[in-house]
Amino acid sequence: MPDLKDILGNEILKEHFRTAVKQNKVSHAYIIEGEKGSGKKMIAAAFAKILQCENRQAPTACGTCASCIQVEHKNHPDVIWVSHEKPSVISVKEIREQVVNTIDIMPYKGPYKIYIVDEAEKMNLAAQNAILKTIEEPPSYGIILLLTANRGAFLPTILSRCILLSVKPVPDQEIKDYLVNTLHVPEPAAEFCVGFSMGNMGKAVDAALSEEFLELRQFSISVLQYIHEAEPFELAGQVKGLKKWKESAGDFLDIMLMWFRDVLVLKLADGEKEIIFRDEYSFIRKQSDRLSFEALNDIFLEIEHARARLRANVNYDTVLEVLLMFVRDKCGDGGNSWQK
Ligand SMILES: [Zn+2]
Repeated sequence: MPDLKDILGNEILKEHFRTAVKQNKVSHAYIIEGEKGSGKKMIAAAFAKILQCENRQAPTACGTCASCIQVEHKNHPDVIWVSHEKPSVISVKEIREQVVNTIDIMPYKGPYKIYIVDEAEKMNLAAQNAILKTIEEPPSYGIILLLTANRGAFLPTILSRCILLSVKPVPDQEIKDYLVNTLHVPEPAAEFCVGFSMGNMGKAVDAALSEEFLELRQFSISVLQYIHEAEPFELAGQVKGLKKWKESAGDFLDIMLMWFRDVLVLKLADGEKEIIFRDEYSFIRKQSDRLSFEALNDIFLEIEHARARLRANVNYDTVLEVLLMFVRDKCGDGGNSWQK
């Protein structure tokens, strides 16, 4: 787990922590907001490391003392990662047992006692009220970090007592340099991951390293290459194939968006170098010849409709079938092959 200086982008947030440590003005409660994969846990751990480091040369952590190593291994006795049993909710019992009832016990070794609540938006009302009391009257050494994808889920009284910090998207070039230089991802693959990640470091790294994602990417390409001539039964078969990645349906939609973005790029200018799916140039070229700007626009809209439907828990197969059929009709020959 990296030091604050190793976290890409997010200069404002890093500077905030550095200044707070340097000026000895560390607050008792923070909300760190950012989407899934944006690096909230990494940032929280890096901050905890600085605060607990034994060779304190503020505002950095040495990275080698026992304390730094314990924070890295998530077994520092004074850095508590609050866990929860049910995936969808953090209960009042969990907040009481892991935070409220233990915060008054002095830290074992560090100067601080730091509680990190990941997915804090999952605290139900009772849990929020319980932690609120602690946030209102914390012991001098107590620090609470609430990590969340959605601060809107917090009580206004919690919001008003925490310092709110947002994790911002990382610039494309920084992500690419990291993938190429540190993870040794080949350049074309790195470019794909950068395009896919939209500034989300975790998403970029997952896309670069996960076999499962690679498979999904290949499968998606095979669906999109010939979508203009697919028969309805073939599309139904492909939807069945996509079921394997049901949990990451959003990824499939993102890949589709990137594909048709490439189609649009080729329509606007013959920029083979500008497209992300460079290996698929001939397929994308063909589709850009067939599709009007209007049809492309309709496809972009339909992909977002599909996303909204999935979020609203509409049946997965139905949503994808409707989407693929829609795209096929836009790309295809006006539906004539239906009659065949
Ligand atoms: Zn250290």
